[in-house]
Amino acid sequence: METVAKVATFENSSAQLSPDLIEAACPWCGDRRFTAIWPNTSATGFFLRRCAACDLAYTAPQLSSEKIAAYYSQAYYGAGNLRFNRLFETLVGYFRRRRAARLRQLHPDPGTVLDIGCGRGHFLQALRQQGWTCRGTELNETAARHAREILSLEVTIGPFDGAQYEDASFDAIYLWHVLEHIPATSQTLTEVRRMLRPGGMLVIAVPNLESWQAAWSRYHWFHLDLPRHYVHYSAHWLTTQLTTLGFHIAEVNHFSAEQNIYGWIQSLLNRAGLKSNLLYDMLRRPSARDVDRPWARFPVQAVLSLVGASVLLPFATLAMLVEALFRRGGTVEIYAQWLATTSAGPEARDDGNPPLSFPSSTSHPAATADTSSPPE
Ligand SMILES: [Zn+2]
Repeated sequence: METVAKVATFENSSAQLSPDLIEAACPWCGDRRFTAIWPNTSATGFFLRRCAACDLAYTAPQLSSEKIAAYYSQAYYGAGNLRFNRLFETLVGYFRRRRAARLRQLHPDPGTVLDIGCGRGHFLQALRQQGWTCRGTELNETAARHAREILSLEVTIGPFDGAQYEDASFDAIYLWHVLEHIPATSQTLTEVRRMLRPGGMLVIAVPNLESWQAAWSRYHWFHLDLPRHYVHYSAHWLTTQLTTLGFHIAEVNHFSAEQNIYGWIQSLLNRAGLKSNLLYDMLRRPSARDVDRPWARFPVQAVLSLVGASVLLPFATLAMLVEALFRRGGTVEIYAQWLATTSAGPEARDDGNPPLSFPSSTSHPAATADTSSPPE
């Protein structure tokens, strides 16, 4: 990864950026003033900044859309878009059905739902069984074809483009572990707000930068996923801005057995010095691995990862429960209801600055990520 090596000292130098890299501005308010988060400790060449104006954290520098595409190779999704072994895929199915049932509790009348980054479409299928009319967008063609041809779902292939949807045309919109992949936060949230009917539900799941596992593992944090994650949210930041945009926060869930137990285990193994995310690779199907034949290439580390995970499992489960209790979950799920009473947004500033322009998400390969299989 030559590009990464070239920028390893970027945060502390005024060196010219390579053409593959983009000097980042805040994806919410466009401000370029920042403070460094966890300075000097990233081994990847990508760093976290916090916007001095609005407090949002984001990755710097950013990769150009051509370069970031390499991080979403077929291996990221897996052949046939099956990423995990059979046991884990079964577990994922259980969590998917529970997620669909939660929407029914918060929004009892099924209407039309859009899942942005719907993967193979299995979550939409679970919603369809609950009576919802389902639509999806998916960047990966193999996954989208599965949703369309095998599950007969209405899925658009390509990055999410709000322009193709009419105002007030959905009763629920999902951004399930997708928003952090999109560089244009402001544009995306204002677009989905426009697309919701009054009373409609916006459901967002993201890694939580204010979590204990993030604070403790810093750049070793499993859910940080640099450079694929452009923006790093906290429950506090998102709920504050969604409220400003006119949403009523119906629920903020810090408890996720699906995401947060594994987040602890892998972060602890990473921080202990084992090869980063080796266990995660081992749990994936051979076609979905970053490292080919991890057992053969790193036998000692593979055994240590597996033994370590078994030992850590009870601790990680307890840590997940305690961090949820203290509202510091490793990932958070936010259910926000559109009240249609205000149209304030980051573009509605009255500080005398010129109107902001935001990087387009429509041409970005990360604008939809396969989110059908946790952990990401
Ligand atoms: Zn900002």
